[in-house]
Amino acid sequence: MNAKRPLIAVLTGAGISTDSGIPDYRGPNGVWQRDPDAQQLVTIGPYRSDPEIRRRAWLLRRDVGALTAEPNAGHLALVELERSGLPVRILTQNVDGLHQRAGLPARKVLELHGTAREVECLRCHARSAMAEALDRVAAGEPDPACAACGGVLKPATVMFGETLDPVVLAKAEAVAKACDLFLAIGTTLQVYPAAGLAQVALDGGARLVVMNAEPTPYDPVADEVIREPIGTALPALVRQLVARG
Ligand code: ZN
Repeated sequence: MNAKRPLIAVLTGAGISTDSGIPDYRGPNGVWQRDPDAQQLVTIGPYRSDPEIRRRAWLLRRDVGALTAEPNAGHLALVELERSGLPVRILTQNVDGLHQRAGLPARKVLELHGTAREVECLRCHARSAMAEALDRVAAGEPDPACAACGGVLKPATVMFGETLDPVVLAKAEAVAKACDLFLAIGTTLQVYPAAGLAQVALDGGARLVVMNAEPTPYDPVADEVIREPIGTALPALVRQLVARG
């Protein structure tokens, strides 16, 4: 562990995926906050108990087409950062899987809110591909059930009313605590756990860079605040970091 190279933690939020056509669902100004009716579809209580809610949720997932979204320049810049050999860990609030699709090794990405690329059974917890479940919806099943036990399937994401995976969260906190540089990209840093992770990094003595279109509560204590669009600003920042080594 001697000649230790500085660890870079990158927290990403909805803002990095908007260029890929994925709207902000969960943030303070996100789709779910503006539409309480739609929020029912992603709240565990109603989802678990009401087949009609599930039927509508499956149709929405089919129509949103999130599985076909492609990574954008922001995601690719982070791949370039990782491939430069600098130690990097990604902590993401996004469930779109675009960091991995862009080429980041899965072991370097912590998905704080789970993944929409898989479904999980509420009874036996078996996991399978979202694409398979959506194929069944397209073939006429309104509410595809678990192939193993017949239980209710849900996306492998953290719905409203569910808690974050404590193992994933503990790993993310350890990364935030250990890092030398904490980049907060496309997140408003207003909601748990994002805000808490930024604070853990600061408490551990890390430098903080905030890149977000809107002001965040951490701007006053950040070493650098970048307002330019992520698609151009992030590649530029990565070039700087790689050149600096
Ligand atoms: Zn099951």
